[in-house]
Amino acid sequence: MTAHDYDLIVIGSGPGGQKAAIAAAKLGKRVAIVDKHDMVGGVCVNTGTIPSKTLREAVLYLTGMSQRELYGASYRVKQDITIADLLARTQHVIGREVEVVRAQLLRNHVDVIDGIAKFVDPHTLAIEGRSRTTISGGKIVIATGTKPARPGEVDFDQARVLDSDEILQMESIPASLVVVGAGVIGIEYASMFAALGCRVTVVEQREQMLEFCDPEIVESLKFHLRDLAVTFRFGEKVVDVAVNSIGTVTTLASGKRIPAEAVMYSAGRQGMTSELDLEKAGLEADKRGRLAVGPHYVTSVNHIYAVGDVIGFPALAATSMDQGRLAAYHAFGEPTNELAALQPIGIYTIPEISYCGATEAELTTSSVPYEIGTARYRELARGQIAGDSYGMLKLLVSTTDRTLLGVHVFGTAATELVHIGQAVMGCGGTVDYLVDAVFNYPTFSEAYKVAALDATNKIRALEKFRP
Ligand SMILES: Cc1cc2nc3c(=O)[nH]c(=O)nc-3n(C[C@H](O)[C@H](O)[C@H](O)COP(=O)(O)OP(=O)(O)OC[C@H]3O[C@@H](n4cnc5c(N)ncnc54)[C@H](O)[C@@H]3O)c2cc1C
Repeated sequence: MTAHDYDLIVIGSGPGGQKAAIAAAKLGKRVAIVDKHDMVGGVCVNTGTIPSKTLREAVLYLTGMSQRELYGASYRVKQDITIADLLARTQHVIGREVEVVRAQLLRNHVDVIDGIAKFVDPHTLAIEGRSRTTISGGKIVIATGTKPARPGEVDFDQARVLDSDEILQMESIPASLVVVGAGVIGIEYASMFAALGCRVTVVEQREQMLEFCDPEIVESLKFHLRDLAVTFRFGEKVVDVAVNSIGTVTTLASGKRIPAEAVMYSAGRQGMTSELDLEKAGLEADKRGRLAVGPHYVTSVNHIYAVGDVIGFPALAATSMDQGRLAAYHAFGEPTNELAALQPIGIYTIPEISYCGATEAELTTSSVPYEIGTARYRELARGQIAGDSYGMLKLLVSTTDRTLLGVHVFGTAATELVHIGQAVMGCGGTVDYLVDAVFNYPTFSEAYKVAALDATNKIRALEKFRP
């Protein structure tokens, strides 16, 4: 190991790379992390998770949306919201987060090297940044993430036709927007722009959206978005996007033409491997730029690991962090547990969605008998106080052993609330824990008790009919 400049070199400073670097540094290893100076923190901090979630928070606050049930449909914190209002908060948070990441790396004595890394051989990287250098590492973690996939036939101009990474460069809030792709990122942005009063049309070639979520909750979301003047075009394919000085016209294969001030493509993401000269390391990416890994995130080359979005599903920040940590521990012989099987999914639409565990469809397919317990926010005192009458929490409970199999939440604080269900499921808990537990009142968490009581009442009714 000492023959190399570093024990570990990490390529990419997003969540996966950061946690790999810090975990190795905590084990006393000499670590370097490579990224462009204006991308420290990765896609997560600079163009993806953090900007989009901050933008959402700014939209919710300035539009006054979450208060309208209480103060009326015309309630707003600011009448004419500008892109500058939104970006001010976003840039502030990005700046702070970059500082946090840099400080964490520095205090753990991780060398932060500016530039783009390319393999020279399996242990050596050439770094091209503000200066050029070559470094070698005993172990290497590739955490280079993804970039938006761009269909070749579309002319992206960063003004009227954008990808989701370019939203922060918009010069104004468009009065109308076509969102191509109803995946998580597309729908999150569609809901933000709709909340801002923009007329949004979502075009999706599949017949539905977010099909991995609970269908009842996706229906609720679609209802809310339609109420905000969102038009859905499912089962439709874009064949052309024409641009002139006043706007765009998106033509669909069905012949429909949709005029809009701007078009945002959110049609999947491509692994960032094309600049790595992978062949010099003996590696190869798939056609979507992704790297295959085996157990412990080891690639086909023993000392090279890959973590985060570059290895594909689930491509989430929290998962990437844990993958990075586990890869570093494995690289240096530190005992680890496997990544927990039970992982929450959070979708920051307006309103937000979150779930953990099984869906009804999965349980039905695998013939697992279950009962549903539902709590509606409008029946919770906290729901009334907060002005959220549409939210709901749904528990899926095994009728065989009363364990919690899934939790699905829609509405205020869904992405936080889901963790209570996750903890109960992770500890193998039953619905009876939630029936017996005393929750603070008035809270949204009380929804767990209400839903648990609903489920157990139904199960009791069923049990009466036992032969
Ligand atoms: C709009 C949007 C919203 C999202 N919202 C959420 C969310 O709410 N919750 C969630 O969990 N996840 C969300 N994600 C996903 C999340 O951002 C990713 O899962 C996470 O950032 C992946 O981390 P990573 O470690 O793979 O690296 P990334 O964050 O993807 O960063 C990779 C880094 O590698 C660098 N790099 C690439 N090639 C090289 C090279 N050759 N040399 C040096 N450096 C290189 C890049 O510059 C970049 O900084 C969102 C993503 C997007 C795009």
